[in-house]
Amino acid sequence: MPKKIAVLTSGGDAPGMNAAIRSVVRCGIAKGWEVFGVKNGYQGLINGQIELMTTRHVGGILQRGGTILGSARCAEFETVEGRKKAIRNMNQLGIEALVVIGGNGSQSGNFALHQMGYPVVGIASTIDNDLVGSDITLGVDTALNIALEAIDRLKVTASSHQRAFILEVMGRKCGYIALMSGLAGGAEAITLPEIETDPEELAETIQQAYEHGKSHALIVAAEGATYNAAKLTEYFDKHKERLGFSMRSTILGHVQRGGAPGAYDRILASQFGWAAVETIEQKNYGVLVGQKGNVITHTPLADVVGKTKGIDPEVVRLARILD
Ligand code: ATP
Repeated sequence: MPKKIAVLTSGGDAPGMNAAIRSVVRCGIAKGWEVFGVKNGYQGLINGQIELMTTRHVGGILQRGGTILGSARCAEFETVEGRKKAIRNMNQLGIEALVVIGGNGSQSGNFALHQMGYPVVGIASTIDNDLVGSDITLGVDTALNIALEAIDRLKVTASSHQRAFILEVMGRKCGYIALMSGLAGGAEAITLPEIETDPEELAETIQQAYEHGKSHALIVAAEGATYNAAKLTEYFDKHKERLGFSMRSTILGHVQRGGAPGAYDRILASQFGWAAVETIEQKNYGVLVGQKGNVITHTPLADVVGKTKGIDPEVVRLARILD
């Protein structure tokens, strides 16, 4: 009897999830195993939406954003009863291990399953890059490049009209995308959830930018910052007579997620998928496959869940020097 494993994607979709599914399926099949795909994350696991995949099922998906398996948020999986149903469904099909491709919440669910004695492996995947256990998670690089393209375009139009712009980027409570895209795009200022913002200080930065002869000013705001795009626009509008300028804002939103994965994410996804299959073969369960210092790592889920990776204060300092 061939070994049977299953793979699912959960939480927010991230560019590269498809490449990771493809890798798990093809690397599993290469070992002579049967690989099942679970539709719609943990919800599909509970509903029994579990289908055998062939190498053809994952053909032509490497370059596609999103996830062919679908993803969902599932409150029922947060209950013991829900997870028991999921385990029953996998046992009925003879599935011996599960690979969960997802972010913080998804890996908490994965750990909860592991604590009930089910063999699991996680793959670090979220555009937020807030997962402890991986320097960089799947989807981050592509999302960053999408944010960067928006910054570059906004700068062109801002320069033509001598305007000030705010660009809001995703990342929930983590400012990684805002910080890194702001650094890479040469933003005049960046607001982050991790650091308090004084709007008067920001106004001064914008005024100084104009005084120094800049033809535009751009603030990158993290969606989770106290001063996100809405709050900043409100503040600047309220004080526009005194400050002498107003801001226009663009919210990038889900545009950041949908892009075709770049080379970095496709390679990372392929490596993560392979590592997950090898990890199952070695019966090294309850770990998160990630990458630290260019090396593929296996961090116990117990050390991952309930924690959030912070931003690097040295990068914050650098962004301030360069703006
Ligand atoms: P992203 O960070 O990219 O948005 P995520 O994986 O953090 O993705 P969440 O919505 O936080 O996304 O979690 C996805 C799903 O994981 C939840 O809908 C739920 O089914 C499951 N989950 C989250 N936390 C737990 C938990 N503590 N116990 C069991 N299941 C959980």
